[in-house]
Amino acid sequence: MADGVFLWRPVNLMLRSAAPQGERTLKGIPASAGIAIGRAFVLSIDSPSVSHERIEPASIPHEVTRFKSALESVAGELVHAIDLARQESTNVSTIIESFLLIVGDPVISGNIVGRIETGTPAETAVMQEFDHHQNMLYNARDSFLRDRAQDFDHVKERLVAILRNQTLSHAAARNSIVVSGSITPQDMLFFKQTRALGFITEIGGINSHACIMARDMGIPAVIGIRNATSDIVNNITIIVDGYAGVVIVDPSDATLREYTAKQEQAEDYRRRLGKLIQEPAVTIDGATVCLMANVDTPKQVDAAVMVGADGFGLVRTEYMLVERGRYPSHEEQVEWYTDIADRAFPKTVTFRAFDVGSDKFREGIPHHEDNPALGLRGIRFLLYRPDIFEQQACAVLKASVHRNVRFMLPMVCVIEEFEQAKHLIQHCMQKLDADGFEYDASMPVGVMIETPAAALLADVFAKAADFLSIGTNDLAQYTLATDRTNELVADIFDALHPSVLKLIRMTVDAARTYEKPVSLCGELAGHAAATELLIGFGLTELSVSTSVLLELKQRIRSVSKEDCLEVVRKALACTTTSEVYAVLAHGR
Ligand code: PEP
Ligand code: MG
Repeated sequence: MADGVFLWRPVNLMLRSAAPQGERTLKGIPASAGIAIGRAFVLSIDSPSVSHERIEPASIPHEVTRFKSALESVAGELVHAIDLARQESTNVSTIIESFLLIVGDPVISGNIVGRIETGTPAETAVMQEFDHHQNMLYNARDSFLRDRAQDFDHVKERLVAILRNQTLSHAAARNSIVVSGSITPQDMLFFKQTRALGFITEIGGINSHACIMARDMGIPAVIGIRNATSDIVNNITIIVDGYAGVVIVDPSDATLREYTAKQEQAEDYRRRLGKLIQEPAVTIDGATVCLMANVDTPKQVDAAVMVGADGFGLVRTEYMLVERGRYPSHEEQVEWYTDIADRAFPKTVTFRAFDVGSDKFREGIPHHEDNPALGLRGIRFLLYRPDIFEQQACAVLKASVHRNVRFMLPMVCVIEEFEQAKHLIQHCMQKLDADGFEYDASMPVGVMIETPAAALLADVFAKAADFLSIGTNDLAQYTLATDRTNELVADIFDALHPSVLKLIRMTVDAARTYEKPVSLCGELAGHAAATELLIGFGLTELSVSTSVLLELKQRIRSVSKEDCLEVVRKALACTTTSEVYAVLAHGR
């Protein structure tokens, strides 16, 4: 997005500045490799809360004027943003247009003025009025209306921020390192467009979707730095070391020189890896690994093809929803899936059905959930909304005409979910037959093994499904009962825990028994220490983000299958994650 666009979600932002205190090192968790050096762009979020103060009758006209001018400012920002967004993405501009409709609604603004005229301060009047509309929308029978409640939240926060003079220079994040409490995938999209150099967050687990996106985009990130937004002042020079998980604030000249040299070495290393593009991913004793890429967009397919990906093990289709802020139409989906399948051809593409819910896109979830990760997520949501699932399945089928498309189901726990989904897919096929559309009648339908229930019954799923794909991010989350986005439990969350390793082993064995393909597409596939272990388990298909694909290829080409089997034997005898790390560090 071009200069001047304001950041959407974090609307109540206060830029903090204070005197520098000399070089300091803050320790966090490495979330995306690389080194970034630049100035800090610190976002402190101040959540709006309703105040019970009253205003004097004499102040009412001034308060009304303040509200009207805030409304005009928001409208002006929106019009400007729509112009800029149109140059980049019609999806983003459509979202912003829907915000403009809310700002221009005369009933809403009339009611707010009415509230102010009874002695309510402008900020409180705005919050009360918007909360009223949001509550009505949350309770609406029509899911489309329920989904609109979030739009009200965006506009409300923006209005309150302006009333509180918490405005933000729109291009301020450009070429800087974003320091924030947390970052949602939506924020990430906007920061990408403002060319942020790096990310530092106070919370957020290593496998949160924002971190995965940072790795995909090759942007260095360190997470879990408590009080980062209060300890780091705006505009100060900082270094993000995404390899070691440290942030150096106000570095000395010597430290700057040291890290500039490290940054150059890292670039050089990347250039040398480029020589591996044409080489196969094969161990020194001849075991071949199919090295695939995880992608979210058609453009990312091209990047993965350029570095020699053998296929696409995971297309997170829900990013289409995140980008648009709504469910796309059937036609939009057909176009998007066909574009990806065509760009990838003849390589295989695995579209994952919308993994809505939990920390991902939540529109359409009927009401608030106390435990969203254990709630209406993935296949559960899709079976609750068969209309959304069928629309997607029909679109994926239409993209399958060249027979390079697979379809996979997220968050499956019980076999009935798979059977019901298959039934709906068959129904889609009948509809396409009736309408005379071409598609691949034997398009493989697979199951993600990302819950302990699915792993423990992997043989049942291996028998029924066309392929399995192990999602270690969620498998670790659910096996260890550890929220993958919660930094308070980040030290427990680890896909290398022996319990998770046993479940991976069971899944690979079950797939082998039923002669079904099995791949691993969680972040563990790209983990620097895990390559021997995964090959030793018998995995011959790994899917990773494009940014680590060549590094993984280099590691595969430097190990032998025989040694990998020995690593597995030792790792499976471990009782703790640290013992597993010790085995992986010292090898067989
Ligand atoms: C996983 O859970 O490992 C996975 C690949 O899916 P996601 O990270 O999108 O939940
Ligand atoms: Mg998952």
